[in-house]
Amino acid sequence: MSKIKSTHFFDAVVIGGGFYGASIAAYLVEVIGLKKVAIIEKEKALMQRASYNNQARVHNGYHYPRSYTTAYRSRTNLPKFLNKWGFSVKTDFKKLYAIATRNSKVTPKQFERFCNEIGAPIKIADSSDRKQFNSKLIEEVFEVEEFAFDSSQLRQFAEKELKDLNVNVMLDTSCTQIINDGFNIYKCIVESAGQKNTGNGHAIWTSKIFNCTYSGLNQIKGEFEGVKTRVKHELTEMALIVPPDGFSDIGITVMDGPFFSTMPFPARQLHSMSHVRYTPHTSWEDDADINPYQRLERFRPQSRFDRMRRDIMRYIPSFCDAKYVDSLLELKTVLVKNEVDDGRPILFEKDAKLPGVYSILGGKIDNIFDIIEKLDSELRD
Ligand SMILES: Cc1cc2nc3c(=O)[nH]c(=O)nc-3n(C[C@H](O)[C@H](O)[C@H](O)COP(=O)(O)OP(=O)(O)OC[C@H]3O[C@@H](n4cnc5c(N)ncnc54)[C@H](O)[C@@H]3O)c2cc1C
Repeated sequence: MSKIKSTHFFDAVVIGGGFYGASIAAYLVEVIGLKKVAIIEKEKALMQRASYNNQARVHNGYHYPRSYTTAYRSRTNLPKFLNKWGFSVKTDFKKLYAIATRNSKVTPKQFERFCNEIGAPIKIADSSDRKQFNSKLIEEVFEVEEFAFDSSQLRQFAEKELKDLNVNVMLDTSCTQIINDGFNIYKCIVESAGQKNTGNGHAIWTSKIFNCTYSGLNQIKGEFEGVKTRVKHELTEMALIVPPDGFSDIGITVMDGPFFSTMPFPARQLHSMSHVRYTPHTSWEDDADINPYQRLERFRPQSRFDRMRRDIMRYIPSFCDAKYVDSLLELKTVLVKNEVDDGRPILFEKDAKLPGVYSILGGKIDNIFDIIEKLDSELRD
């Protein structure tokens, strides 16, 4: 083992400063009691990637009529999320779920029964709201209880929390390799901004590594061989819009199949617009030789906002007045096994050859509590 300067040794190193990495680093100090924790984040600030560029939906189960477990876990996690991050959650808007007449994988009756089974509040929407929908294409409209989070506020909270907990946050720095330096002490090769692609990284050491790099899980080299669970990446476009008059306090999801969602995006005080058919521009199964972040950098598509809007107008004619403002382009990484049921469970892998090295991916923000449960049983006495 190399001689290690104490300033270069950490009780734990978290790779990736998204919502997951930041929350896990705070947990390691606050709950597990570790003293020296570092986060390595390749962007210039925390939570710049998927944790910002998403639909900002705080899930409450409705979205998953084909995956009871995911729906049920969302219901369980919502109060916990509100308890810790409630300050960032916008609740003062109405959320409508509409069931399409054709091509829907769920009927209104089934959807209502499913909501009752998971204990999620649901009622038939007011007639003034129902009137907005094309009754030939929409069979039923329900009013439900679903909220939106402000990702900028989540980031500001994390920055303060990590500072108060003395977590060493290394921004603009990538982890490129993990090497076992003997006795399960790991050397992480990190490259700060000026060292990128020069091969001149420097090293920090630790006995515990949490790989929270989302789309980059398999991009770290050295003795780390990647995760066993198959994952898939999508290059996605979420449009940001000004909704038509009368829709600024309404979020809408049309279920369940090749449909769409539009709802408040509090961080920009706009609404997001996603469409199952148009939001993913392309997708591929993970291949360690293809760096997803490099693909994202080259991704400069023509916006599909118009196609999204044209389809949405068929269901809600007033959306012809929706105004395009911007597009959020981002990688979405999902487990291959969830393609069929559309569930969003977690990936939690202990590396078989490198004890103390964990890879973690949460399919949605509230899954953090499922990960914390796993970490509790792993790290607490
Ligand atoms: C289009 C879209 C819509 C979504 N909608 C929702 C929604 O409405 N509700 C919901 O709950 N969830 C939603 N999600 C999922 C949610 O965004 C993710 O579950 C969550 O953000 C994952 O957090 P994370 O910290 O793992 O990922 P990220 O926020 O992507 O963090 C990973 C971090 O690792 C860094 N990194 C990567 N490689 C390295 C490296 N080698 N060295 C250093 N740093 C590295 C990256 O820069 C990044 O900051 C959506 C996702 C997408 C893409």
